[in-house]
Amino acid sequence: MLEHAVDRSTFNQVMVPNYAPQAMVPVRGKGSRIWDQEGKEYLDFAGGIAVNALGHCHPALIDALKKQGEELWHLSNVYTNEPALELAQQLINSTFADKVFFCNSGAEANEAAFKLARKYAYDNFGPEKHEIVSFYQSFHGRTLFTVTVGGQKKYCEGFEPVPGGVLHTTYNDLEALKALMSDRTCAVVAEPIQGEGGVIPADPEFIKGVRELCDQHNALLVLDEVQSGMGRTGQLFAYMGLGVTPDILTSAKSLGGGFPIGAMLTTNKVAESFGFGTHGSTYGGNPLACAVALEVIKTINDPQLLANVSNKHDRFRKHLESMNSKYGIFADVRGKGLLIGAELVEKYHGKGKDILAAAADEGLMLLVAGPNVLRFAPSLIIPDEDIDEGMARLEKAIATVVSA
Ligand code: PLP
Repeated sequence: MLEHAVDRSTFNQVMVPNYAPQAMVPVRGKGSRIWDQEGKEYLDFAGGIAVNALGHCHPALIDALKKQGEELWHLSNVYTNEPALELAQQLINSTFADKVFFCNSGAEANEAAFKLARKYAYDNFGPEKHEIVSFYQSFHGRTLFTVTVGGQKKYCEGFEPVPGGVLHTTYNDLEALKALMSDRTCAVVAEPIQGEGGVIPADPEFIKGVRELCDQHNALLVLDEVQSGMGRTGQLFAYMGLGVTPDILTSAKSLGGGFPIGAMLTTNKVAESFGFGTHGSTYGGNPLACAVALEVIKTINDPQLLANVSNKHDRFRKHLESMNSKYGIFADVRGKGLLIGAELVEKYHGKGKDILAAAADEGLMLLVAGPNVLRFAPSLIIPDEDIDEGMARLEKAIATVVSA
C-alpha cells in the first residue's frame, strides 16, 4: 500500500456519514477508465451516475473550461454573461422550449419547476389549483420539496412535516392517474424513465395519456429529464422519442458532463409566471458551468453520436443476455440507450450490492437502482472495446457471487 495524505479512512473522520463510498479512492480518469490511489484501473460503467456523458477529461471540455477559466468565473445574476446566453440559445434551438432558467443541480432544477407550476396555476387559475401529482418510485432530488414530490417515502422519513398538496399514484397506470386528477391539479411530474426507481421506462401510450389528462385539467406536464436527458436514450431528450411535449423540462447531470449545472426549460407562456424577483440562485448560469455545458451540448447533439448510443445499447444488451443464458441471474434487462437496468431474479434479490463490490474487485465501476437492479449509465461515447472488457469483468464478478 502506498502512503497517502488522505485515504478512505479519512472519510469517516471528516465527513457527515450520509454516504458510504467504496473502499478505493479514485484519483484520475480518462475516457471510460479510472485509476485509484493504488494505481489500480477500473472500467467505468457508472459514469458518475449518468453524468460523465463524454467520459472523463474529454479534451473539448478541458479546453472550454480552461478558456473560460482565464476569462471570467462568476458574476451572479445581477449581470448576465455570454456562455449562459449561448447555452440558453442552444437549448431553445434544440427543444420545445422558449425560455431557460439555470441552476446548479437536478434538485434545484426540479425545485424551480415545481415552484413555477404552482405559481403559474396561482396566477392563471387561483390558489386552489396547487396539487402536484407524481408517481411512486420516482426520484426528483433531495431538497424537502423534491423528496416530497419523489415517490419514495424513505427519503421523507424523519424530515416531516413535508410540504402539502403532493399526491402520488402508480407509474404507467393511466386509470389510477385519472382518478387522482382534478381541477386542483396544477402539474403532473414524471421521469420518462424512472432511474433511481429501478430503470423503468414509461409506456409511450401512458405518457401520451398523461399529456391528454394534463390538457383536460389545465395542468402542466413536467418531465424530469435530469437522468434521461442529454443524449442518454439516443435522443437529445427522451420526450423526443415519446411523441409528447412537456410544458416544463428539467435537466442536470449530463448537461455539464461533470461540471455542476442544472436547467429548467419552459414555454414563453409559462415562463411569464417567474417574473422579476420570484425565484433565483447566486450561482445559476455561472460562466464556467455554462461554457462547459455549451461544449457538451454541441458535442452530444450530433445525429451520429446519438445513433451510436442506440448501437451501444444493443452491445450491452447482447452481453447481458449471453451472461444470463450462462448464469440465469437476470429476470429482465430493460431501459433505453445507455440507461440500462438488469433486474436480478428472486434468488439473488438483495445481492446487487455484493455484485457491485465483486465488480469493483475485478476493476469495474457499476451502479444499482434499488437492491435488485444493476444499473449501467456509462459515457455515451464509451469505446466498444471498453464495453467488451467491462462485461468480461462483470461476468467474473457474477461468477464469484453466484458461486459464493
Ligand atoms: N431527478 C432525477 C431523475 C435524478 O435521477 C436525480 C439524481 O439522481 C435528481 C433529479 C437529482 O439531481 P441532483 O442530485 O443533481 O440534485
